[in-house]
Amino acid sequence: MVTYQYNCDDDGPTDVRLPMGTATETIACPVCTQPARRVFTSPMLSAVDQNRMKLIDSTKATSDRPEVVTSIPSDGRRKKQPMAPPNPMLQKLPRP
Ligand SMILES: [Zn+2]
Repeated sequence: MVTYQYNCDDDGPTDVRLPMGTATETIACPVCTQPARRVFTSPMLSAVDQNRMKLIDSTKATSDRPEVVTSIPSDGRRKKQPMAPPNPMLQKLPRP
């Protein structure tokens, strides 16, 4: 079901829920039964969660405009890790 908006010259806008694609050019106004003309409006984008839309937009943007970096991020996430745990046998070897 889709909400279509019609406008009566005397009574103002009226919303009618109809199956998609079945909207006619005019309907009888529910108040005065005069013909009310259909009004074309934008989809109900305000009903969509804004955070979800931001996430979708940013995800799409990464494919079109990937973020370019010139250095490794310095937020402390990349710290030097030992290649292997220290071996006690190697601790006894002479140091240069
Ligand atoms: Zn009317």
